[in-house]
Amino acid sequence: MAMRRNKAIYWFTKDLRIEDNHAFNSLRAGIDELCCVFIVDPSWFRDRPWQRPSLSHNRWQFLLECITNLQSNLKHYQHTLHILYGSATELIPVLVNNYDLNRLVVTKQPGSYERLTLTKIQDECPTLQIDEIEQYTLFEENDLPFTLTQVPKTYSQFRKLIEPLPGPPSLPKPQHLPPMLKLDYLTAQSQPNWLPRKTKALRFCGGENEAQRHLSEYFSGPAPKHYKAVRNELSGWTNSSKLSPWLNTGCLSPRQVKTALSAYEGINGSNESSHWLYIELLWREYFIYLHYCQKDKTFSFQGTAKTAPLTSFYPERFKKWCEGETPYQLVNACMKELKETGYLSNRGRQIVASCLVNELGVDWRYGAAWFEHCLIDYDVAVNWGNWQYIAGVGADPRGGRHFNIQKQTELYDPDFLYQKRWGAQSRDKLDSRDAADWPIS
Ligand code: FAD
Repeated sequence: MAMRRNKAIYWFTKDLRIEDNHAFNSLRAGIDELCCVFIVDPSWFRDRPWQRPSLSHNRWQFLLECITNLQSNLKHYQHTLHILYGSATELIPVLVNNYDLNRLVVTKQPGSYERLTLTKIQDECPTLQIDEIEQYTLFEENDLPFTLTQVPKTYSQFRKLIEPLPGPPSLPKPQHLPPMLKLDYLTAQSQPNWLPRKTKALRFCGGENEAQRHLSEYFSGPAPKHYKAVRNELSGWTNSSKLSPWLNTGCLSPRQVKTALSAYEGINGSNESSHWLYIELLWREYFIYLHYCQKDKTFSFQGTAKTAPLTSFYPERFKKWCEGETPYQLVNACMKELKETGYLSNRGRQIVASCLVNELGVDWRYGAAWFEHCLIDYDVAVNWGNWQYIAGVGADPRGGRHFNIQKQTELYDPDFLYQKRWGAQSRDKLDSRDAADWPIS
């Protein structure tokens, strides 16, 4: 009797690279044929309850560049990246049945929809072996000194436990991959008309090659030595590492960042600043593990707090905040930068988030959803976790942060250069109607 051939599908998601790709390395042995796919889901471009589709043009543009680069890098392995359009819960079962696939390999990632999608696929294809490979974080679950149901409640407790652990080393590129399984059936799909049109070039260029170039550029200059002193500045290319867009699309792994940082410290010596970069990278880890622990609570209004915030939804205020038309000029500059570029400094994000919640009294989840729409470095756990933190319903032991906008202006933009750069002005009226729906003159 003929042996069944082992046929696997590698579904690229937030791991758009070849180097230090543990999932890829796991595919070298025992597989006769392999197909690599990336799935573009139409729901990314549809309006959601939070008033916006999840992908802005900037996010799509960056992602497209990442996919294009991956497509070209896979050619070295005589593989094609098959780009499919539709929902994964429908497409993957079709592939499994039509091509007699028996294994699905995917990187473990945060997110409730992502989890639900895999469960649905497994229900549709009960004999399919699904391997979820941990590589989106620096550590694997087994390395952690706590279980994912008991993640420390504060970052400082977490940091104490995790900081002394050695980060695992990164892996080189695989020498070769199993032969390609050709998908002629589904790849005849033409580009659907719901895809956004190509937009203008971004400040960041997506893809593994650019990620590697940026990583080596950042660590071959003096910037890491001064990181801690300048990381809160509102602008400047080297005031922070700018690694996040590549990290959160998986063009770069956190292990590669840790390896590059250790190599930098080996040559230049470590100081408080270079070490602080690692501390920030651990914040990313923290929010991801916290999300694995809290699951859907990540998105709930009250979070893990005992009381709900005293905020509501004011459509007019929210719209003005999104467009950078509030009475606060610094906030407006930040919001214009975010919308135009898909990126905003950490301090900028903190100031505008605090303003939405504290000055405008708007439900923090609308702000988190707007960030999800705009940010090219969007990560579900990190974004919603940071928003919860500022809104006082998350992991902040101080119960939320209220940034004084006047003081932040004096500290970070005393000459209004940043505000002028983004053409920001302050608007005098926040509301055009009062609570009784009377026009406010
Ligand atoms: P650097 O300062 O160079 O830091 C190095 C790395 O450390 C970053 O790339 C990032 O991976 C990690 N890091 C730094 N600060 C934080 C932080 N506060 N929380 C978690 N990880 C951190 N970051 C995202 O990557 N995606 C998001 O969706 C996101 N949403 C945010 C929403 C709000 C309301 C706030 C206040 C912060 C958010 N951040 C988010 C965190 C932070 O602003 C960005 O990681 C950082 O600005 C990215 O720029 P950088 O790579 O130059 O950071």
